[in-house]
Amino acid sequence: MNHIHQYGVFSALMHGFSSDGVKASDILSACNHGLGTVCELNGEIIILDGEAYHFTPDGKLHRLNADDRMPMVVATDFNPTLTKELSTLSMRELTQAMHPFFPTKQNNFMAVRIDGKFNSITYRIGGPQHRPKEPLLELAKRQVTKSYENITGTLFGFYSPPYMNGVAVAGFHLHFLSDDRTAGGHVLDFEAENVALKAAVNTQMHLEFPDSEAFNEEPILPESAGDLHLAE
Ligand SMILES: [Zn+2]
Repeated sequence: MNHIHQYGVFSALMHGFSSDGVKASDILSACNHGLGTVCELNGEIIILDGEAYHFTPDGKLHRLNADDRMPMVVATDFNPTLTKELSTLSMRELTQAMHPFFPTKQNNFMAVRIDGKFNSITYRIGGPQHRPKEPLLELAKRQVTKSYENITGTLFGFYSPPYMNGVAVAGFHLHFLSDDRTAGGHVLDFEAENVALKAAVNTQMHLEFPDSEAFNEEPILPESAGDLHLAE
């Protein structure tokens, strides 16, 4: 339980690699929570309670078909071992709120789910690529940013330790889905109240690499932590 199943590496995504992917059904057969993107990097995916939701930059929500492919996905069979009720929580306070995982598990991956009323939330929806292999930093220049006030919903994502940057994105990486299923994307900031925080330490990581010529066309070099956070 609480294993990470990841397809792809974030450095490859930064280089615009998005043509191959794992089938949604392969991830959903092993995992019930997660986040990712689709081919051509057209939007953001959040997996909650075994359902995969896909938001495109026009703000529309789509369901993934079993055969749809994800060039990047991080998912888990989420079974929380830390549960807290908090009157308020913000992005800035999240590390502290996850005591005792911080600091006693700080070099592990952790999955985190936050249900609550979001007094404010800002998120973005990236993509799509305008040409094959368009780098993520170029997409970042035209990503759509949205803000809501007083919306109930759920955040899910992972904490990744700094030494994994490139394979993962160090720090918290969270995606959002509103209860009414009208809003969602990659979270930039939030303030919430009446929060249920659930988390688990991920004890194993299963990493699947793309097995294609496109993935190996050119060397994929390490990315700076700053660029990863800006674009991803
Ligand atoms: Zn994201």
